[in-house]
Amino acid sequence: MTMVSLTTTTSLTRAAPVGAVAGARAQRRYGTRTRRAERTSADVSKTTRRARRVVVVANADAGESGETAAVTTKKNLPKVLVAGGGIAGLIAAAACKRKGMDVTVFEKVKKYEPFGGPIQLQCNAQGALDSICPDMAEKVMEKGTITGDRVNGLLDGVSGEWFYRFDTRKPCHDNGLPLTLVLSRFELLDILSEGVGTENIEMGTVVTSYENKGDKVVATLADGREFEGDVLIGADGIRSKLRAQMRGEDPEKPPLAYAGYAVYTAVCKYSQPHREPQHTDPNKVGYQVFLGPKQYFVSSDVGNGEQQYYAFLEVPAGGDDEFAKCENWENYREMLMDRFKDWCPAVMERLECTRPEDVERRDVNDLLPDPRWIDGRMALLGDSAHAVQPNLGQGGGQAIESSYVLADELSKCEGGKGVQTALMKYAARRFLRTGAIHGLSRFSSLMNTFYRRHLGDEPYDWYPESVRNMWLEVSKAKIPHPGSVMGQIILMGSMPIILEYVGAGYGIPGVLGGASTGNGKDRVPRSQIPGISAPLRDLTAEDFKMRGIPGLAK
Ligand SMILES: Cc1cc2nc3c(=O)[nH]c(=O)nc-3n(C[C@H](O)[C@H](O)[C@H](O)COP(=O)(O)OP(=O)(O)OC[C@H]3O[C@@H](n4cnc5c(N)ncnc54)[C@H](O)[C@@H]3O)c2cc1C
Repeated sequence: MTMVSLTTTTSLTRAAPVGAVAGARAQRRYGTRTRRAERTSADVSKTTRRARRVVVVANADAGESGETAAVTTKKNLPKVLVAGGGIAGLIAAAACKRKGMDVTVFEKVKKYEPFGGPIQLQCNAQGALDSICPDMAEKVMEKGTITGDRVNGLLDGVSGEWFYRFDTRKPCHDNGLPLTLVLSRFELLDILSEGVGTENIEMGTVVTSYENKGDKVVATLADGREFEGDVLIGADGIRSKLRAQMRGEDPEKPPLAYAGYAVYTAVCKYSQPHREPQHTDPNKVGYQVFLGPKQYFVSSDVGNGEQQYYAFLEVPAGGDDEFAKCENWENYREMLMDRFKDWCPAVMERLECTRPEDVERRDVNDLLPDPRWIDGRMALLGDSAHAVQPNLGQGGGQAIESSYVLADELSKCEGGKGVQTALMKYAARRFLRTGAIHGLSRFSSLMNTFYRRHLGDEPYDWYPESVRNMWLEVSKAKIPHPGSVMGQIILMGSMPIILEYVGAGYGIPGVLGGASTGNGKDRVPRSQIPGISAPLRDLTAEDFKMRGIPGLAK
């Protein structure tokens, strides 16, 4: 009996009733758009039946030994080499392995030490993961802390008042996708490594170059060894060596685009009595983005009474500024407390609860969208191809979507044929979507930092002093800034559309920029309902509603 095939069948079958209950409940709650999820359910049942037929054929051929290999041999699928065992490389390898391909991952570090604490996986990322492997998706759900069943949104950094609350449950319910969750990067890497099989991962190995040789590709390692495969996936991160070779970049100076911000991050215990509990109750609030000029502060509940935050500061690139060097303060925590000293207690309390040694810093970069992802049998994936700013929490999510598509295309290369076409199709199915997420991530950064609450707030430095003083006087009158009034109105109109697009892609085909979540193909719809499935909370529509005139609503 093949392990791979058996788990496919049982997981899909087991998940079905959850989807069915969820569908009925979601329809009561959200009414109109649940039909898509129902259609998806029917389609997936067909896929499930198809999957069962494949199992039978595979088993018949597998005989007594080496079942997974038997599937591979029968279809003669490509042998896949992967440079980089981060989120992208591991998921791509797990996805290819699950389709019956033979995979080897080369990972530079001997032991993982990821930057930052937990990672947020939104519904699109989990949908794609579920389509790749329902078992891995279930493990992620088991270990993760669901935040998508709570109020999330933007707040004024100084007053701590809500600027805009949004409901991330809706795209999940409408599209049969799991709710947003956060989980430790270590746990995620463990789950993914298990999915690949540790015997298929070579830790402490660096891929230095590649060569296309007819119907093969050869990867050369720093220790001089060479490995031949049908495909090489370049998942070696934003400073990718393989991308540098492909595009003729200087590997020491990759063409990264600096966001204008550095991020300081930590996880803190946040269980003390709060000075201002109304907007920070973790039973009601998932993640919050506190807005302000030239800096913003993002915090999320990550379970066990802990909060993870990212403090973004507008500074020059390179870590040469006074805040990075931190000579005027004891440590980064003290510096952040100074920088945010006029901000609301919700921000200051998180800093107060932080252990100074836990704060990490890095410049924020992305890559401009560039369609050169493929060179013969080498394909870029994840941050090496489409790094985005972290404002939407989508870098990892896009890597998972891309991995799903790449494995899907490669699995059509029976007899080892058509690999290059498959890679081109993968890039075509993913380029617009990742480009759109790139643009939206940049847009949210702009919005977060251009935010000004009162006319005259933070007058620009280049004004003559008399003009600056005049604006400071105007500030005292607390006249709402037209930009923030318009901003709120625009958010009220656009945010549900953005959430639906980021989370589920509106059912648009991938080549036209839609999401790649495997809906209707490889996945049984899941809609977790508070109190029934994993989430504990059941907030009402009132909890999310903005009250007052649009533009000045609270
Ligand atoms: C502050 C911040 C917060 C974020 N929050 C989120 C979030 O909440 N949700 C989300 O989805 N995304 C988030 N992201 C983005 C996400 O972390 C990245 O998009 C994701 O980690 C990219 O994965 P990757 O595997 O492509 O690259 P990486 O994580 O960089 O992994 C590349 C791997 O390749 C290895 N490697 C490098 N060179 C070689 C080589 N030559 N040979 C072999 N191995 C090599 C490296 O050691 C590394 O393990 C965030 C990013 C930042 C900076």
